[in-house]
Amino acid sequence: MITIIQLVLNPKEYKEVPLQKILARYLKIDEKRITSFRIIRKSIDARKPEIKIVLRIEVTVDEIKNTNISNVAFQPKLPLKNGNVIIVGMGPAGLFASLQLLARGIKPIIIEQGNDVHQRKRDIALMYRTNTVNEISNYCFGEGGAGTFSDGKLYSRSVKRGNIEWFLQTLVQAGASDTILYESHPHIGSDKLPIIIENIRKWILNAGGEIYFSCQMTDLIIENDECKGITVNTKDKIYADAVILASGHSSRYVYDVLFHKGLSLQPKGFAVGVRLEHKQDLINLMQYHGSSYIKYLPPAEYAIVEQINGRGVYSFCMCPGGSIVPAMTEKETIVVNGMSSSKRNSPFANSGFVVEIRTEDIAQQATATDMLSFQHELEKNAFKQANDGLKAPAQRVIDFLHNKVSTSLPKTSYIPGVVSSPFHEWLPLLLREKLTMAFQRIQKRMPLFINDDVLMIGIESRTSSPVRIPRNENTFEHVQIKHLYPCGEGAGYAGGITSSALDGINVANAVYIE
Ligand SMILES: Cc1cc2nc3c(=O)[nH]c(=O)nc-3n(C[C@H](O)[C@H](O)[C@H](O)COP(=O)(O)OP(=O)(O)OC[C@H]3O[C@@H](n4cnc5c(N)ncnc54)[C@H](O)[C@@H]3O)c2cc1C
Repeated sequence: MITIIQLVLNPKEYKEVPLQKILARYLKIDEKRITSFRIIRKSIDARKPEIKIVLRIEVTVDEIKNTNISNVAFQPKLPLKNGNVIIVGMGPAGLFASLQLLARGIKPIIIEQGNDVHQRKRDIALMYRTNTVNEISNYCFGEGGAGTFSDGKLYSRSVKRGNIEWFLQTLVQAGASDTILYESHPHIGSDKLPIIIENIRKWILNAGGEIYFSCQMTDLIIENDECKGITVNTKDKIYADAVILASGHSSRYVYDVLFHKGLSLQPKGFAVGVRLEHKQDLINLMQYHGSSYIKYLPPAEYAIVEQINGRGVYSFCMCPGGSIVPAMTEKETIVVNGMSSSKRNSPFANSGFVVEIRTEDIAQQATATDMLSFQHELEKNAFKQANDGLKAPAQRVIDFLHNKVSTSLPKTSYIPGVVSSPFHEWLPLLLREKLTMAFQRIQKRMPLFINDDVLMIGIESRTSSPVRIPRNENTFEHVQIKHLYPCGEGAGYAGGITSSALDGINVANAVYIE
């Protein structure tokens, strides 16, 4: 007998009592009769002080359950000489496009400007030591793209985009904990992601794919409105049946290449703001209402959305027990982002806190270039405020609300260090106003959230792409150029790891080879 049950447990019981025992008690049967069980969904209900763990579990009693073959995720196949496809960029979109091409018997040739994960770790360590950005190997560029040292939150559950289960199972097969299959807020952690990415790389190579690191696409080869291949490192040409452009949203260089080729780019709304940093203990206290079960619960999260005069102002990419990292890709700019390890055990909690930006905010007929320039100017301005390598401008939120320069700053997880800066003076008016109004509102509703020690660090400007590379809805090809497939976050069709990976799969399925 296979049965699905819903259990509501207190956090202590969930942590300390074996689930098999609890299930047997619930079903009023001997424990030995339970041959297997599988958690389908786990969430924490923290709306009231009596915090509950809510579980949906499939339990098998008195029989051996057949393993469903479709549960097996990626089974590499050798390319069947069905053609070659170049993939520019080895982020989640490029990686999952490669796997899907292999599944179709098509050989992927991945071109990645950054280094492999091992060298990338060294490059990042050197970046901290020298206080300077490496422009091709950093938190955004290199094997695994921006996904490698990301927080690894996989919250997207929108099944409209594709087969999320398959995506998650593939990650588990590559080494992720199987908890991502049932947690309501699945999270991998930046310490675990590199090995997962490395395993996927091995599958691709073993299945006959090719991967080139330190190899930058510098041009597209276009003849008679058809993409025939790419130029790399400004000299060598590689030809293929199709090119998937999965270069992420941090590579302004790629947008320049398209622009200079006369290919259309569209302006797109996005969001910018700051990163907020709290002490994790405070967030636990607030979200778990001082519950006595705190020690049995994971570091608490929050999600805040305010509508300020019809405009979204919201928390973004919250990292409980995490740190703020320098995520810029160009010298003399500052961009911050957040990450956490699988254990989420830092004493800090951070989150982007961003304002929705519409194209008409920038100019009445804003172009893609206008949007990119707005984003770039903010990042350059953030650098000017601190003017010291990777150091970032920062201000106490309370001081920001009182138009006051912070004379001291609380401790932060941002390793390069912060410099006191008057955000109330230099942030564009739209951001200043909307952030102020949102903070004031939150202060009334959640006074603890805006306490003396809450720090804002800038600038959070890479939430999603400010441009879109237009593609045909049915064929997924660029609207002007055949065999060129814009893909993932940089093309404006995804935001985050899951949706980028799913877009990669969808594009790989759409690639047409004559
Ligand atoms: C610190 C941090 C934390 C994050 N945390 C999360 C999170 O918890 N959850 C989540 O969903 N998202 C998170 N993100 C965002 C997520 O990583 C991105 O949305 C996702 O990686 C986008 O995937 P992509 O494949 O479209 O592009 P990318 O991951 O940006 O990959 C693009 C790749 O293309 C390469 N490339 C660019 N131009 C060229 C060229 N000319 N030639 C060759 N190669 C090129 C780049 O080097 C890069 O490796 C985080 C990002 C950062 C930086």
